[in-house]
Amino acid sequence: MYSKSENLFEQAKRVIPGGVNSPVRAFKSVGGTPIFMERAQGSYMYDVDGNKYVDYINSWGPMILGHAYEPVVKAIQDYATRSTSFGAPTELETRIAELIIGMVPNIDMIRMVNSGTEACMTAIRIARGVTGKNKFIKFEGCYHGHADAFLVSAGSGVATLGIQAVPGVTTSVSQDTLTAPYNNLPAVQQLIAENPDQIAAIIVEPIAGNMGCILPQPGFLEGLRQLCDENNILLIFDEVMTGFRLARGGAQELLGIRADLVTFGKIIGGGMPVGAVAGPRAIMENLAPAGKVYQAGTLSGNPIAMIAGYTLLNTLNENPVIYQQLQEKATYLVNGLREAFGGAGVVHQINQIGSMLSAHFTEYPIIDFASASAANNELFRKFFHAMLERGIYLPPSAFESWFMCNALTTEDLDATIQAAKSAMQAIK
Ligand SMILES: *Cc1c(COP(=O)(O)O)cnc(C)c1O
Repeated sequence: MYSKSENLFEQAKRVIPGGVNSPVRAFKSVGGTPIFMERAQGSYMYDVDGNKYVDYINSWGPMILGHAYEPVVKAIQDYATRSTSFGAPTELETRIAELIIGMVPNIDMIRMVNSGTEACMTAIRIARGVTGKNKFIKFEGCYHGHADAFLVSAGSGVATLGIQAVPGVTTSVSQDTLTAPYNNLPAVQQLIAENPDQIAAIIVEPIAGNMGCILPQPGFLEGLRQLCDENNILLIFDEVMTGFRLARGGAQELLGIRADLVTFGKIIGGGMPVGAVAGPRAIMENLAPAGKVYQAGTLSGNPIAMIAGYTLLNTLNENPVIYQQLQEKATYLVNGLREAFGGAGVVHQINQIGSMLSAHFTEYPIIDFASASAANNELFRKFFHAMLERGIYLPPSAFESWFMCNALTTEDLDATIQAAKSAMQAIK
């Protein structure tokens, strides 16, 4: 069933460390060998062995309208004949900046980079530059990319591999990274009290998606906002995952909470490698060349990436009904999954918000990294493979959010629910 994938993986391992260009693709957490893809269309992916899957990764988020979304593909094709990069400004960069500033609350300016990692790295640098302080607080199980300072209690990929201290990250860097459990405001208060006038920023996934999908408890983000205001700390919302996914304006809009800086990735590039950091003018003008906080990128604002992102974002902006449709599809799926798990007598928790969700096999609520880790992740491993065999491609780790796309049909959702029922009967 997977012989070509297995063969390609053997070849890849000879020339690429671990056979993949990003660790979570290697299936380490669930076992088995990664599936090599050939093409994808709408809600389906097709592998090199000719298997077809309903896709719940959607390139880890960007494919919110499904794969090979025609307007995006067409825009890329049309633009590519002009050149794939100039190294000089284009009008397109201003137009996408205006579009995003119109969609997202509390931002006046935006800087494009090439990944979510770069975006978060830059946000911390700005916060340090603006406040003149060195330390920052992040939450256990939240992922903000692979920059040195973030590889402390870093969620999904790192959690999946069971890595604690990351070789290559020096203690002098990681000692400026303070961590608290997600949803634990007293722990944050204590860190601030213990490090007076030393904390530049608190960076948080406003809805956490890198330890499964975990919602902020009432008062948590409001409390962070207040602590930041009282202590001259910048609040950074890492919306690399939630931006443009949960609402046009991301979690800031959905939850009505203001961040001082916000980072984007994933959807913003329409499947091309793009990230961005955005905020109010007074903060953003600290970035070079307007200010002294240096940041640069040879391919930043790349025209092919910009036209892909612009086309996708513009569609989302003009059709807010998409978010309602995604919500309805998610509710339908979650109800069906509850029936499938419950029918098999399997204890479970399903966390869901908009088109993000995750399933954990435990009777306890999943509110932070510790509770996500304590769930029956061995059962998830079996569930993942049973679903894969039934043509449903889930994220290959219990520490990842599932992403839904609007190309999913009722038939796809029914097929997924049927697969879950049969999978659970087979493995429980
Ligand atoms: C994916 C992700 C990142 C990193 O983005 P890359 O483009 O993979 O560098 C950062 N933060 C969050 C919340 C993410 O989900």
